[in-house]
Amino acid sequence: MKAEIISIGTELLLGHIVNTNAAYLSRRLAELGIDLYFQTTVGDNPQRLTQTIRKALVRSDVVILTGGLGPTIDDITSESVANLISKPLVFDASVWRDIQKRFGSMGVKMPSGNKRQAMVPKGAICLRNNFGTAPALIVEYMDKVIICLPGPPREMEPLFEDQVASYLKKRFKSESIIVVRTIKIVGLPESFVNNIVRDLLKMPPPTTVGIYAKLREVHLVIMAKARSPRQCRRAISPIEKEIVSRLRNNIFGYDGDTLESIVGMMLLKKKLTISVAESCTGGLLSKRFTDVNGSSRYFMTGIVTYSNESKSSFLGVKRADIVRFGAVSNEVASQMASGIKYFACTDIGIGITGVAGPAGGSLRKPIGLVYIAIKTSKKCIAKEFRFSGSREDVRHQASQAALDMVRVNI
Ligand code: ATP
Ligand code: MG
Repeated sequence: MKAEIISIGTELLLGHIVNTNAAYLSRRLAELGIDLYFQTTVGDNPQRLTQTIRKALVRSDVVILTGGLGPTIDDITSESVANLISKPLVFDASVWRDIQKRFGSMGVKMPSGNKRQAMVPKGAICLRNNFGTAPALIVEYMDKVIICLPGPPREMEPLFEDQVASYLKKRFKSESIIVVRTIKIVGLPESFVNNIVRDLLKMPPPTTVGIYAKLREVHLVIMAKARSPRQCRRAISPIEKEIVSRLRNNIFGYDGDTLESIVGMMLLKKKLTISVAESCTGGLLSKRFTDVNGSSRYFMTGIVTYSNESKSSFLGVKRADIVRFGAVSNEVASQMASGIKYFACTDIGIGITGVAGPAGGSLRKPIGLVYIAIKTSKKCIAKEFRFSGSREDVRHQASQAALDMVRVNI
């Protein structure tokens, strides 16, 4: 079965928003074993939209549209689909009730435009949208299917997950499905990982391995296509074992794991508490720690000491050492780590100081130079890093490196 995606919205064409819906749908369709050959983006223009859907129906079995289901005049999806299949728009009482209920529960008066959303192409299957007013629509047209989903991802994704995926599975019994296993690696550059698994990257379908570089993190993605999830997993398992045996401690997690969630789990398991003193990362490391649900059990304090003065007065960094070694130095990072550990009364303290750029670098202290220190009850380790990229890149890499230092030192 062949599918294609049409993303609707002039905002997308102008680059005002990023097309995350297409990325999400592509990934989910692959997982469902549905082939996807085309993605098109089209503006809020009825003629061009109709033309695009018509073209898609010739070459695909399922056409998934996102966007343009709202109540405003530029929302043209329902109308265009109805025109294309030569069906009138009809008033759907149950959709109307849902819309009224939604406004009732929000306690706001309904704008008149919302009544338009209860007008759907005759014969369309309406899917209830629990996160917005626009229902999703499934229109069966000859042996093809047109699926209309709302634009906002927080509405689109649950609709697809809860209702569209099961519809597609039932209607098009796919011979195969795809299972994806992601292995996440830290502390090795992409080229190193590439060399270590070079032979595996050349495997032909139905089981393949791909490599994807992030900032200071590499993902190896094993993708298997087979008749059942069990068969997929059976194909993935030996390759996964092989990768694990080659990369061992550089693997920090799998699939949905993040470095901060894994480090958090380790701290929890070892019953350790942590605090962080940051300079160039401006609180990013604390943010990442606290992004994890339940982090209050191990993350105690995060403090941004940006000036020399605050490094001394809040963390007890020696003024003389700042003068002697500079604020961006091993010594200052170590004293920041010891200081925060002491003042926050935690098992571990982290100190980060560096030059994030793009200005402020010098020959001796170039942009991207970052010192990170970790102080535990047994040791204090400080490391020098030289990151490249934008200010944001340098900060992100510093937070990655700090999390990894915690991972390997506790
Ligand atoms: P609404 O009822 O909010 O108008 P809609 O179904 O009419 O929903 P659009 O008007 O096309 O959808 O888009 C509404 C918002 O949804 C956009 O401003 C954008 O934030 C988000 N959105 C739309 N399409 C996409 C997309 N392809 N990827 C990511 N976000 C999108
Ligand atoms: Mg809209």
